[in-house]
Amino acid sequence: MGAEALIRWRHPKWGFLAPMDFIKIAEESSLISRIDAWVMDRACRQLAEWDHAGRVHSAFVMSVNLSARRLSDENLPALISETLARHRVDPHRIELEITETAMMQSLETAAHSLAAVKRLGVRLALDDFGVGYSNLDYVKRFPIDKLKIDRSFIRGKNAQALLLIDAVIQLGKKLNLQVVAEGVETDEQREFLAASGCDMAQGYLTGRPLAVEAFERVLERH
Ligand code: MN
Repeated sequence: MGAEALIRWRHPKWGFLAPMDFIKIAEESSLISRIDAWVMDRACRQLAEWDHAGRVHSAFVMSVNLSARRLSDENLPALISETLARHRVDPHRIELEITETAMMQSLETAAHSLAAVKRLGVRLALDDFGVGYSNLDYVKRFPIDKLKIDRSFIRGKNAQALLLIDAVIQLGKKLNLQVVAEGVETDEQREFLAASGCDMAQGYLTGRPLAVEAFERVLERH
């Protein structure tokens, strides 16, 4: 159904770095804007390349995580529309993942720029839902297409945890949102989620984070 673009940094001295090792620091400087622009460019370029080679179907969606800082940047819609145009990517094929914390930091600008992004035709997903404030006002106020249930929920095993997952799924469905479960690792979890009506699953069960070449080998097998 799609892929989520994840960033890694091959550092000459420290080796392979995960986002948690450098995104916070980048967010404190202006570098995060350049990283965001680069990630958006790479994701669109990759999708265009896969389309061209016939590796993915025309409904394949590329998800891109957006930093809190970028969300409050009023140039965001322009950056996105330029990048889409440069690679001739249909806006419906790109989905921006945003977190509540990011929206909270600049409610007014975020609402404004997300509405503009949405008008371009780009899809919006609320990431890590269920942890943090889970403020339903945001779900109402922002033009969200998809809820991504945080992995920590999916790990829960007792009856109460399962009830909560089910309740969040029903909430999403009632609001006409697509619901995705993050961090799905076992068949048992997948079966429970499917029975609750969850639309999609993401996690080690369906695929670990992979480099482009390895992901292409997975595409070949499908
Ligand atoms: Mn994400």
